[in-house]
Amino acid sequence: MAKLLEIKNLKTYFYTDDGVAKAVDGVNFDLDQGETLGLVGESGCGKSVSALSIMRLIPNPPGKIVDGEILFKGQDLTKFDDKKMQEIRGNDIAMIFQEPMTSLNPVFTCGDQIDEAVILHQQVTKEEAKKRSIGMLHLVGIPAPEQRYNEYPHQLSGGLRQRVMIAMALSCNPEILIADEPTTALDVTVQAQILELIKKLQDELGMGVIMITHDLGVIAEVSKRVAVMYASKVAEYSNAEEIFYNPKHPYTLGLLNSIPKLNKGQGRLSTIEGNVPPATNYPSGCHFCTRCKYVDSKLYTADSKCWNIEPVLEQVSGTSTMHVVACHYYKEIEKRRIKEGDKIPSDAA
Ligand code: SF4
Repeated sequence: MAKLLEIKNLKTYFYTDDGVAKAVDGVNFDLDQGETLGLVGESGCGKSVSALSIMRLIPNPPGKIVDGEILFKGQDLTKFDDKKMQEIRGNDIAMIFQEPMTSLNPVFTCGDQIDEAVILHQQVTKEEAKKRSIGMLHLVGIPAPEQRYNEYPHQLSGGLRQRVMIAMALSCNPEILIADEPTTALDVTVQAQILELIKKLQDELGMGVIMITHDLGVIAEVSKRVAVMYASKVAEYSNAEEIFYNPKHPYTLGLLNSIPKLNKGQGRLSTIEGNVPPATNYPSGCHFCTRCKYVDSKLYTADSKCWNIEPVLEQVSGTSTMHVVACHYYKEIEKRRIKEGDKIPSDAA
């Protein structure tokens, strides 16, 4: 049986004055029905561009999907024309964007905006759409949904606006929900409520969910499998347990180490030194080599693998589950870490 979603060798580039920005460059992952896949990494790693590529919302120009396949139930979305994509978008695949205030239209009521998606995709009357929209507002836990239906986005708190976005995304019972940093702009208590809500609705509706975040704590809460992205590529990919308890890539280790730990006398918070390089100027070898604390020391010489040869994803040896990592030296790094008594920072799980 075909997977719900399969991303194969996806490449999305932006043609800018500074050169070609390879925002997503050869990415592979898949999603099963009812499953949550976490896409994690810092800003600028290609997570959101991957999501926008799936939705076929890459602005062209300057952006373009230059290669790869996006298979939704076996059908390649990259081959669909705009009309066919409009039928899929919002109906079969929906997305929650990270900033509800800028994603909702300020001049229409919340109800009108949910109605629009329902009328477009479900061929129902305005009255039926209204009934359904109020039902969705109720489903996502908005108090007094009939009243909120007639209100404008600015009259709602950030948490309520995000719930309206979720109601809009779920209004047509999509098979896939892409949630791009759905809790970033929210207070921590509201964050927990929104995550709980997405989980509950996923159980009720059986959707596949792609949860995009830079926060491994969020991923630990909700994801069955995790793809760690760094600088346009997948650096490590496995089930959540492997990523949290048996991480191999120095970037994954760095992310796990950066999570604040309460009541453990942590002292200074660990960080990953440096920044994600610009997408127009990635190193020619491993994209993480400018920041990796385990990078081989033979800088820029022909026999330096890290600086000259791009690592490809390979199955981690000694693991029976699917666990792939793109690092030339993951085995040596593991030995070194064991020798140095460096514990796996899995407190997030
Ligand atoms: Fe670090 Fe080299 Fe592994 Fe890249 S290939 S993560 S630079 S050790």
